[in-house]
Amino acid sequence: MKSQYNFETLCVHAGQEPDPTTTSRGLPIHRTSSYVFKSTDHAANLFALKEPGNIYTRLMNPTQDVLEKRMAALEQGAAALALASGTAAVYYAVINVCAQGDEIVSANNLYGGTYTMFDAILPQFGIKTRFVSAHDPKNFEAAINARTRALFIETIGNPALDFTDIKAIAAVAHKHHLPLIVDGTFTTPFLLKTINFGADIVVNSVTKWIGGHGTGIGGVVIDAGRFDWQDTKFTLFNEPDTSYHGLRYAHDLGELNPLAYIMRMRLVPLRNMGACIAPDNAWLFLQGLETLHLRMARHCENALEVARYLKEHSQTAWVRYPGLPDDPAYPLSCQYLKNGFGGMVVFGIKGGLNAGKRFIESLNLFSHLANVGDAKSLALHPSSTSHSQLSVEQQEESGLTPDLIRLSVGIEHIDDIINDLENAFASVWE
Ligand SMILES: *Cc1c(COP(=O)(O)O)cnc(C)c1O
Repeated sequence: MKSQYNFETLCVHAGQEPDPTTTSRGLPIHRTSSYVFKSTDHAANLFALKEPGNIYTRLMNPTQDVLEKRMAALEQGAAALALASGTAAVYYAVINVCAQGDEIVSANNLYGGTYTMFDAILPQFGIKTRFVSAHDPKNFEAAINARTRALFIETIGNPALDFTDIKAIAAVAHKHHLPLIVDGTFTTPFLLKTINFGADIVVNSVTKWIGGHGTGIGGVVIDAGRFDWQDTKFTLFNEPDTSYHGLRYAHDLGELNPLAYIMRMRLVPLRNMGACIAPDNAWLFLQGLETLHLRMARHCENALEVARYLKEHSQTAWVRYPGLPDDPAYPLSCQYLKNGFGGMVVFGIKGGLNAGKRFIESLNLFSHLANVGDAKSLALHPSSTSHSQLSVEQQEESGLTPDLIRLSVGIEHIDDIINDLENAFASVWE
């Protein structure tokens, strides 16, 4: 695919040619576990990485390959790997750089599941996370030590929708020769191409706006392909891998050395731990991607309207939306986001927890569920659901108050969305 095509065109075409065997214009779903070897020599060459080709669907699949190429093109990265979930993508992104005894420095305003992974699960494997407030890049610098192997942030933080200064944090990472891993789920490459602002690795839960229809779970990791992994502190890339022909990923891949990170992720975590994406789901996400630019524009337009409406409403205590001019996130968001401010709005309802519960139960058009980024409007009360594993102190640190209601604004007609909110407010105070 010619890289000079514009984003909208890449959404529809990148990574796909009509199928050479059948001339099918639509993308075939390759539902197969394995691929026939042409000869014993061919098989041996594939296993030894001497020639490219398909072996087994845990490692690669032609439908998945199109999703990886399209996501790499949209994020302006060098290559990508699609995985079974956004969670698996975050997990592999970290364990692909960190061995036992290593550390990462992470923003503390994370997606609830990611916070729990870093806080409670990775320590079981000897990988420690130092959490910092992302509001000041200096906090990251202060937490870096000789064991640090990566910095981790989200573009728009959960759940308070703070915007993170990616360029400044990338500068800190690179000063210490560390990769910056950015979870760009809330912005998608339509709003923000994080690699252009210094991210080395981008993670997306494609379950959300990328797929856009709430029909499947998946994740993609995109490698900018420009981090130098030959620094010996990255032992996983410099010491011979006894599980794979003694390969040293930062040295022995020839022309593919710049892709050491994403190649290793396929050859080690994916091959041996197995969170592969189903070909059917890869297809669903590609179907979604074709309209990403149309949907995101509408999500942003509707969310801005909802934020303005809530701001004026007498029953709201506060509203956060990065696109409101008096929002704390507004100055930074304006520097980074040129196509809109995202589909998420959060607000505090007067009357706190109980009013919040009644409000959520009174919504009709909005679905009460734990997802974001669907074409349909969604609502959630995080402190009793997605973030309930966090202690009260942890909730407060990450900006989560008991009155907080999170809206993922869909692409329905704006009048119907506002009417639904209006009716729910009315029934809280009946
Ligand atoms: C949903 C989400 C994840 C996890 O992705 P799954 O596909 O649900 O596993 C990670 N990060 C962010 C920001 C998310 O919104």
